[in-house]
Amino acid sequence: MSECVCLPTCVFFNNQMDKMPSTSKAMKNTYCQGNYSSCARHMVFIKLSKDEVPNDLFPHQQERAKEFLKNQKQS
Ligand code: SF4
Repeated sequence: MSECVCLPTCVFFNNQMDKMPSTSKAMKNTYCQGNYSSCARHMVFIKLSKDEVPNDLFPHQQERAKEFLKNQKQS
């Protein structure tokens, strides 16, 4: 199993987001310590930068990440 390179500083992985979902432990297993390339936060990190990942973006919000990236390209 592989780990996301963002683990040390990711606000989701480090429980620093408001309203952490009750499923966060399972999400960490699924995304952070597994299929991180499909994580919404990771998508923005790869395309833009760590600093541009919205603080309130959760790993399962891929559609929101796509929308966010699309809007970034247009601006
Ligand atoms: S997989 Fe997503 S939520 Fe998990 S550490 Fe990486 S960027 Fe953060």
